Parts: sequence; structure tokens; C-alpha cells
Amino acid sequence: MTMKAVRIMSPGPAKSLVYESIPKPTLPSASVLVKNKFSGVNFIDTYFRTGVYPTPMPTVLGEEGSGVIEKVGSDVKDFAVGDRVAYITRTASYAEYTIPDDRYIKKIPDSVSFELGAASMTQGLTAICLTNQSYKVKKGDIVLIHAAAGGTGRLFVQICKHYGATVIATVSTEEKADIVRKLGADNVILYTQEDVPTKVREFTNGKMADVVFDGVGKSTFQASFDSLRRCGTLVSFGNASGKVPPIEINMLSKGNIVLLRPQLYGYLTTREEFETAATELFDLIAKKVLDINICKIFDLKDAEKAHEFIEARKTTGKILLRIDD
Ligand code: NDP
Repeated sequence: MTMKAVRIMSPGPAKSLVYESIPKPTLPSASVLVKNKFSGVNFIDTYFRTGVYPTPMPTVLGEEGSGVIEKVGSDVKDFAVGDRVAYITRTASYAEYTIPDDRYIKKIPDSVSFELGAASMTQGLTAICLTNQSYKVKKGDIVLIHAAAGGTGRLFVQICKHYGATVIATVSTEEKADIVRKLGADNVILYTQEDVPTKVREFTNGKMADVVFDGVGKSTFQASFDSLRRCGTLVSFGNASGKVPPIEINMLSKGNIVLLRPQLYGYLTTREEFETAATELFDLIAKKVLDINICKIFDLKDAEKAHEFIEARKTTGKILLRIDD
């Protein structure tokens, strides 16, 4: 039996993504087979594609998806054939079928669409985990969020506002500035034109930020560092502009800065940890605290276009791949 999937054979540009037939995965006894409806596209997928994050080749890309359970392994107790589910996975969802790690599957109610299920997972769980565990955002905090109109950035803005923080958001265009203002950002910096620490100083009357969430990486690292108050926290969690070069550890002494470089899976090592975060996520969606904007849907065969779209900084929410029956 075969299935359609999008694979990468060797590191390269978006056009190196190959849509083809490959063998359907065989189900181990402790897992479930999901017939996918949607796969989510994340900036991380481009890191695997280009080799920024090394991965064995060839590989099916894709970190999350939604669909219906088609088969259940004999050892599985918590899921049944026909369950509607969303999941995160370590590369494998740009395909008709995926066998996710059963620690990372969430049943979704009929009221949650397959689109929303796939769209909420990686970016939503990242925003929940980093604002609770990398740094516990609380009422009164001043939070600086980079690329705030992007898929993950939008969710950080909404969650930090919900927790009672003052949000300073950076974006590259006026159009994106309008988006983040509507989401509740208190101040916006056009970081392609304005000096970020200078603006943060101005907006905070010199207090500076308690925490910076930086998924942009190389081009913003120094500005993030310089935007913090004494004993502030820099959460560097991505490389959209390139990897942050190695740093001289003594730089942290200037202001006794706390620096973290977390990854989502470091907070989700067990089924319980995943369930706690996913339950909080769906609760915030149900309460309409989180508005997950599905920005564009491509067909699976057009994954190349989806990668070009995200790399061209066009995302103002989630990109999905539709997987036809
Ligand atoms: P986004 O939708 O946020 O897209 C990336 C955004 O980064 C762009 O829209 C752009 O916003 C900004 N950007 C700045 N410089 C560049 C550049 N040179 N090239 C492209 N984009 C640039 O993507 P995601 O929400 O999927 O991911 C955001 C970040 O979060 C990524 O770095 C990702 O790796 C990270 N992440 C990390 C996780 C972890 O576990 N550590 C988990 C999930 C996400 P603008 O136009 O406003 O500058």
C-alpha cells in the first residue's frame, strides 16, 4: 500500500520538496494510524528542509496535523477507530497517513474543526509552555514579542495580554502593525526601521522589558538583550533570520540577564505534560481568549509554495496543507 507524501531528499530550497507516493506506514502495537485531513506548516519545517536542524534523509516533513484514527494498535487503550484527533509529531505529517507518538495526540470535540485542530498545536503549545515555564508571565510584566504578527507571535500577544502583561510587539510592516494592535498590543515597533531598545526605553519610561520572547534569532538577539531591565529574561526560541552566533557568556553579567534557548519538546516529555498544556490551550480557544487565524491553506502537493510563503514573511497566522481523501 502506498500514500501521497511530501519528502525532502537532501537539504535545499523550497523547490527540493518532492510530492510523491511512498509506502504507507506500518502500525506498531502501541500506536495509532491517523488518516490526515490537515497538516500544519511551521517555520521549523524550513529548518529541517535547509539543514539548519539536521535530520536523516529522505524524510517526510511536518510537525503537526489533524485527522481521524483509522487503525489502533493492540496495546492502545485511550483511542478508538473513528476518533477525531490533532497531534504534534517529530516530522511526518505532510502525508496522507501519520503514526504520531501516542503521548502527543489530543481528541478534538465535534465543535473543533479539523482546520483549527491542526492550526492550534505546535504554535499554541509553544506559546502556552514558554509563557508559563520559560518565564511565568504575570500581571504588570512588560513583555517584548518579536515577529508578533506571525503564527506563533500572534498567540504570544494574546496570551500575554490575557495574563495581564503590557505587550510591546515588533513587526516588519504597517499592515502587520495594525494586526497586532487589534490583538491588543500596547505598543508596536517597526523593527526594520526603528531602533528597538530606544523605542522600548521610550515606551516604558526607562524601565525596559521584564522578558523578551525572540523567535527571530540572529538579527534581533542583540536588540533583545539591550531591551531588558536588570535581571530580565531573554527567551530565544527560534532562528527565522538565522541562528544566533555563539555568545560570550560574560555578556550576561551586564544586567545579570537570564538567557534561555528552550524547545517545545523539552517541556512535553510525558503524556501528562502534553495533556496539561493542550487542555489549557483548548480552554483558551473555547473561552475566545485565543483567536487562531488560519492565514492560508495550500494543497499538500503545493507544500513548496507554502514554504516560499512563510519564508517570504507573508504569514499573519497559520498556514495549513489540505490533504485530500
Ligand atoms: P512565523 O509565522 O512567525 O514566520 C516567521 C516570522 O519571522 C516572519 O513572518 C517575519 O515576521 C519574521 N522574520 C524576521 N526576519 C526574518 C527573515 N529573515 N526571514 C523570514 N522571516 C523573518 O513562523 P512560526 O510562527 O512558525 O515560527 C516563529 C518562530 O518560532 C520560528 O523561529 C520558529 O522556529 C520558532 N518556534 C520555536 C519553537 C521551539 O520549540 N523553540 C516551537 C515553535 C516555533 P516580520 O515580517 O514581522 O519580521
